[in-house]
Amino acid sequence: MGAIGRTAEFPGLVGPDGSRWHYLDTAATAQKPQVVIDAVSNALGRDYATVHRGVYSRSAQMTLGYEAARRRVASFIGGREDEIVFTRGATEAINLVAYSYPDKGRVLLSRLEHHSNIVPWQLAGWQVDVCPLTEDGRIDLAAAEAMLTPEHTMVALAHVSNVLGSVLDAHRAAELARSVGAKLLLDGCQAVPRLPVDVAALGCDFYAFSGHKLYGPTGIGALWGHADLLESMPPWQGGGSMIDNVTFERTTFAPPPQRFEAGTPAIVEAIGLAAACDYVSAIGPGAIHAHEAALVADLREALRPMNDVTLFGPEDSAGIVSFALQGVHPHDLGTILDEEGVAIRAGHHCAQPLMYWLGVPATARASFGLYSDDSDVAALVRGIERARRIFG
Ligand code: PMP
Repeated sequence: MGAIGRTAEFPGLVGPDGSRWHYLDTAATAQKPQVVIDAVSNALGRDYATVHRGVYSRSAQMTLGYEAARRRVASFIGGREDEIVFTRGATEAINLVAYSYPDKGRVLLSRLEHHSNIVPWQLAGWQVDVCPLTEDGRIDLAAAEAMLTPEHTMVALAHVSNVLGSVLDAHRAAELARSVGAKLLLDGCQAVPRLPVDVAALGCDFYAFSGHKLYGPTGIGALWGHADLLESMPPWQGGGSMIDNVTFERTTFAPPPQRFEAGTPAIVEAIGLAAACDYVSAIGPGAIHAHEAALVADLREALRPMNDVTLFGPEDSAGIVSFALQGVHPHDLGTILDEEGVAIRAGHHCAQPLMYWLGVPATARASFGLYSDDSDVAALVRGIERARRIFG
């Protein structure tokens, strides 16, 4: 199966000797298409100026470009532009809600969360409850239903797990949260690059994601939140751009989303993210999902007969396969694969509570993108066979 994005559009997919690099670490960060690189380059070059303050035309143009980026990102996830807060990434988006949401009660998380959907709640003083997983590594929503109480004011769950690729039944999660009066925050970091996402249809209250996993630049991401919820939240960082009027006696604040964007924003990165959203929209998130699902099925099928390989996670994982090769530490496997021009991730993937549940210190993880193809699966399988021979 060929890639669905033209791999020639991704300069990062070329290895040091000019051959195809088998990049299977897209869940960590995605390679960038030339249109995103060009958008960033133009925003940093011929179009560059600050936003919101300039009286000269270049700055006015840049302001239009920055606010258009917000519109393009909003439309990518089915939200309204005044409901999109630009952040540094998903981590900052979740921290914003954890610190700023006014009704800090109990939050229900799950055992498979990324550290960035665990630690902010701990630091911000929430009481954290942990929903268990089903045997095949999904968030157990029946257990969540039994655990939720009116004391829970927030439920915060990964839409797609970054380790197991498990896809949450977000509608059901939204229903459960609503039934006790809690809000639902979805960590959409791994979902936006691999599933069609429409926040209105999902029924969630907050949605967080990072640009760099969506084929966009680093240093930019977004928090989507219902307008009335954002309105109820005080600012969490102070500075320029987020104010209405400042005196030493009393400062008043701008409405959302500006209220949450203190300081000169990541102008260039926001424009790059919008270009990435347009690129992914044009290919179609549904097509990307189907493409990655087929690659996952091929890889699982190739690994299943190897009796020294343990496959983690559900069969229908979205674009991500975690596994262990008996007697070979994932880091050693990663090093051997690197010699074969194959890049995987080895480690705890910032999900240590999940590693404890799996009973391993680390996993090897292969993750696909829209540029992945059969040759990547074949190279990975060849590399694993070589590692088995080396380690006997
Ligand atoms: N949540 C999930 C599910 C992730 O995969 C990641 C990145 N690995 C994050 C949150 C954090 O994203 P970032 O580091 O870009 O803020």
